Order: sequence, then structure tokens, then C-alpha cells
Amino acid sequence: MAFSKLSLSTAMAEGVKAMGYTEPTPIQLRAIPLIVSGLDVIGSAQTGTGKTAAFALPILSKLERHQPQPRVLVLEPTRELAAQVETAFRDFARFTDLRVTVLFGGVGYGRQREDLRKGMDVIVATPGRLLDLIGQGVCKLNQIQYLVLDEADRMLDMGFLPDVRRIIERCPRNRHTSLFSATIPPEIETLIKWAMRNPQLVEIGARRTPAKGVKHVIYPVADAQKKDLLTELLNRVNYDSVIVFCRTKSGADRIAHLLKRDNHAVALLHSNRTQREREHALRGFRDGRYEVLVATDIAARGLDIAAVSHVINYDVPQHPEDYIHRIGRTGRMEAAGDAFTLMTAEDGRHVNAIERFISQKIPRVKLENFNYRYTALFEQGRPGQPAPGTRRITAARIRGGYYFGPARRR
Ligand code: AMP
Repeated sequence: MAFSKLSLSTAMAEGVKAMGYTEPTPIQLRAIPLIVSGLDVIGSAQTGTGKTAAFALPILSKLERHQPQPRVLVLEPTRELAAQVETAFRDFARFTDLRVTVLFGGVGYGRQREDLRKGMDVIVATPGRLLDLIGQGVCKLNQIQYLVLDEADRMLDMGFLPDVRRIIERCPRNRHTSLFSATIPPEIETLIKWAMRNPQLVEIGARRTPAKGVKHVIYPVADAQKKDLLTELLNRVNYDSVIVFCRTKSGADRIAHLLKRDNHAVALLHSNRTQREREHALRGFRDGRYEVLVATDIAARGLDIAAVSHVINYDVPQHPEDYIHRIGRTGRMEAAGDAFTLMTAEDGRHVNAIERFISQKIPRVKLENFNYRYTALFEQGRPGQPAPGTRRITAARIRGGYYFGPARRR
């Protein structure tokens, strides 16, 4: 089915064409008609499914001409996402006189205040800075007609829900609300009951299915050899661009340093970096100046980085849903990609949780000719359980590393 059947305004139909989109994605097919007809929508779809256009196109279609008071508010958990969504709105609105701005912290107030003074139709914002500007009396939400809560589960994780509630209280009751979230934990359910009216659920694919086309494997390895294995993987794998996920900011710093030393062009993304550094890293990675992006989960959540050929989980994600989000970076719009996860003996519990969550067993593989210090016998066995042909597997700490092998005689 074509976009022309979706009751979009002429300007939006042209905008879509200019973007080179030929067919709507499944979430667009289902969400656009609902939003156009004025219903509240809960969208549950993976990143990379085209969800931004699924809310931006119908909302922009309804706005028609520029007016001085903001009528659309989109809340985003991170500055990068906010900037990305603002760009999408601007792209779609290029054949209109509608004005779009983005408000986030970490940068000066000047341009943001100036935009608000001039009068914007669409505001894309992170909650903290928006409340700041409301407090200063330069931003008013009393004319908002469309409210979008994007990546709601991540806003919850980041502790933004109280701010989000404060913001919603400033919007008129008589408005349309859309909420997008990969998972719907109880806190989000409560928010939905409070903030939405008779919402329609649009669920694309099983919420727990990793993106199609992604080949994912686990490399069991001793803790002491993780860095070596990562270096070796990067040397051997024929990648175009790769994101390496680390659990902590300091871990990401260390890995970025190590990879730079190995002459990789590395960009680093985490929340301790300045806004400028983050933008520089992202732009460089998108332009191909950097081939490796080392990132923490929060910093990289939902970012639309096209054509990532590989994702490497240097650390196993602690929350199963993060696994889906991380490997969602590859296989965007169904292109193929590879996702590698390095796993030490300590990670068994988290890997089991991920496998239960996605209802799939992730194959364990060994890197050929890698000088494993301890035998990895994970290929068929589950961690902590005997692989076929072995009597018992034990994971014992040996000189700072782990031994994955049959129980040793003491
Ligand atoms: P999103 O899930 O909103 O982050 O979108 C992921 C990527 O898909 C972005 O690069 C969009 O520009 C692109 N995209 C969204 N909708 C379509 C479509 N109908 N056809 C082709 N590409 C699309």
C-alpha cells in the first residue's frame, strides 16, 4: 500500500517522496490512520521500524499553517534522540511554513529562548530543560494539541517520569497523546491510564523479537582475555561500522583508549561527555570518519545510525530488553547485521535471562585460532551445565580469569 492511501496532507506526501520513502512501514500503516482520526495511540515497535514518521507525518498533516503558539510537544529521553527527531520533523515539514525547534540541556539558553520567542509549532524536548524554560516563563504549553511521549520506558529508567508528569499537567486536557515504548512496565501502565484516553495499541511484531536479519552469537571468554578477544574480533571481522557497547562510562573510556591505540578510528559516546563531544562523535560516526563507536546503553538508545554492520556487546546487557535495543542498531530496516556478545562465567545469569526474553538460544562460538588461555566448552552446553561429552563444567577463578572446562582435580 502506498502513502497516498494514508490521508496525509499534500505537503506531507511531498515530504515523504523527497525523503525517498516509497512504501509505509508496518507501524506507519497502522498508526498513521489512527492518529489522523484523532485517537490516542500506544506504539510498541523496535527502533528502526520507522516509528518517528509514524507519529510525525499524521501530526504535521493536521497542523496545516504556522501559528505562533506551540501545538505539538514531543518528549525524548536523551539529547541525541531529541536532535534526531527534530531533524525528522524538519525534513517532513520542508514543504510547509511550520516551525520546529529542539530544547535540551548541556547547551546555552540563547538560541532556544530566541526560537520560543519567535513562535514554534513543534517542540521536541528533553524533560529537564523544558521544565527549566517553563519555569523561566518563556515556554507555554497551554495550546498543545498533540503530545508524544517517545521511548517512555527509557524515560522511566532515567528517572524522568516525575518531570514528565509535571509537563503533562501543563498541557490542556483536551489533547491527543501518543506513547511509544519498547516495553510497558507497570509504571508506564499507570502513566497511560492517567495521561491517555481510550488508547489504541499498535504492536508491530512480537515486542521481544530481535530485528530480522541479525545474526547473533556469543563468544564465551575468560574475563582476563576479553580485551584481547575484542581486539582480535575487530582485526578479523570485515565490518563497515561497528558499535561496541560497554556497561559503564569508565569501561567505555578504557575500551575507546585501547582501540585507538590499535589504530582504529574511534568515537566515544556516553553521558559524561559534553554535548559538543557527543555531537562530534555521532556526526563523525555517521559520516564514516570513525569506524568504531564505543557507547553506553543510555547514550546510544534509539539513535538512528544507518548501516551499522556489527554490534559488539563488550559487556552483556543487564536488562534483557537492552539486548534487543542494542542489536536493533544492526539490521535497521531489515538489512543484515551481526551482533556479537562477549560472555564471561559471571554473565551466565544475564545471558539466560536474555535467552528467555527473546525465546531463542544464542549460539556459542569460538574464535578460530584465538589463543584461548582456558578451554571454552560452551559451544553446546549452557553456562553452568555440562556440554555434551563432558562430565561437568566448572567456572573457577584462576589468576584473575575464568576456567571454562571440565572440573579440575584438586
Ligand atoms: P525510526 O524507527 O523512526 O528511527 O526510523 C528508522 C529509519 O528508517 C530512519 O532512517 C528513517 O528515515 C527510515 N524510514 C522510516 N520510514 C521509512 C519508509 N517508509 N521507507 C524507508 N525508510 C524509512
